[in-house]
Order: sequence, then structure tokens, then C-alpha cells
Amino acid sequence: MTAARPPISLPVARSTYFCPVAETYLLRFGAIVEELLVLQEQQFVALLHGDVSAHQFDLLIESANERKRSAKDAYLMHLEQHGCC
Ligand SMILES: [Zn+2]
Repeated sequence: MTAARPPISLPVARSTYFCPVAETYLLRFGAIVEELLVLQEQQFVALLHGDVSAHQFDLLIESANERKRSAKDAYLMHLEQHGCC
């Protein structure tokens, strides 16, 4: 597998519309989305270079997708239950 670039951390705009707990959930959701994008980019670069092991990214991408869904569900559940959005 080929590493394309290190993960980046984008600044997240602060909002006064939700509580600090919701912000924590949102940041976690965003971090996993970022991780997923990096994995997909790495897989794309590996494919471009003819790396025969590029398919191995599929398991990592699948795992990241599952964690992304879980993080999104936790975020949305908090907003619904806490009513802070
Ligand atoms: Zn809240």
C-alpha cells in the first residue's frame, strides 16, 4: 500500500447552536470522515501506481464507513435527545 499524504485536520467553525457535547460528537464524526477520505485517496493513488495490493484498502474503508455511521448516529441521537440544535 502507498501512503498518499498524512491526514489533515480542518478547522471546524464554532457554533452557538449546539452544546459542547454535540460539538464533541460532531468533531469525532468529522475526524472519521477525514480518515475515510484519506483512505480512499490512498487507494486511488495505489491504483494509479498499479499496486496489486490496492484492494486491501477495502477492509480499512469498510471499517471506517462503519465507524462513520456509528459516529453520525451518535451525533444525531444526541441532537434529538438533548434538543440542542
Ligand atoms: Zn447537546
